[in-house]
Amino acid sequence: MTFDIITIFPSFFASVFEHGVFKRARAVGQLEIRVHDLRDFTDDRHRTVDDRPFGGGPGMVLKPEPLFLAVEDLNAGSGAKAFPVVLLSPQGRLFRQEVAEELAGHDRVAMICGRYEGVDERVAQALVTDEISIGDYVLAGGELAAAVVIESVARLLPGVLGNEESPRQESFSLPSGADLKPEAVAAIPGAPPGGRGLLDFPQYTRPPEYRGLTVPEVLLSGNHEEIRRWRRRESIAKTWRRRPELLQQVVLDQDDLEVLEDLQRGEPD
Ligand code: SAM
Repeated sequence: MTFDIITIFPSFFASVFEHGVFKRARAVGQLEIRVHDLRDFTDDRHRTVDDRPFGGGPGMVLKPEPLFLAVEDLNAGSGAKAFPVVLLSPQGRLFRQEVAEELAGHDRVAMICGRYEGVDERVAQALVTDEISIGDYVLAGGELAAAVVIESVARLLPGVLGNEESPRQESFSLPSGADLKPEAVAAIPGAPPGGRGLLDFPQYTRPPEYRGLTVPEVLLSGNHEEIRRWRRRESIAKTWRRRPELLQQVVLDQDDLEVLEDLQRGEPD
């Protein structure tokens, strides 16, 4: 998968993509990242990419011309093949795991990083196909947001994570088919096939005791069925306490519903 990033700060990305998942995804040939300097698409001596807002007000706005030229240049290199052009923007649709999964289905995605007061609205109107926000807060630029999006997509690409780190088992991910009882799926009108996932269960590693803090006994028991049930219960409990709205989207079987009822009655999980 190729990401084309259009930015006024190309050196911002100098080391970001040299680590961890980015590095691995590039090494296995699943990810290519091309960083384009927006100033290369200007034609004045000062390589101007911004201007004052019409109507007055503070700050500067990224001009439309260099952005249109930059995206057209990418198009020229792609033949006729269309690809999403994403504007990182606090006004965009909220970035979530399912958006990462959706982007991972494309061969190529272009990303425009805004700066200053933002980007001339005509770019959103006529150039981009999608606007993505990484959260309800305002950053100074789209570069960090682009890196967030690319990392979460890169770890979904085939062969990037080892078998031991399956993204299917994580918070927000689609549960595997084996996790669901078909009658539980059928009983819920309008449920998406598989539903969305719960928050992940708590993880522990050695030592079994540290500063008086112990690992739950069941995880040391070697009883795989008990461990599976405990993890499922903990996932439901954590989701119920921290992100109860996620439970609306999850397909729960009878055992799960009993866990929820216990939680609602205030019984220890
Ligand atoms: N004036 C804009 C507004 O209020 O919506 C904010 C502009 S912001 C200071 C500059 C740039 O940072 C934006 O054009 C966008 O590319 C990026 N940015 C800021 N917050 C973001 C967020 N939550 N998600 C994605 N990109 C963001």
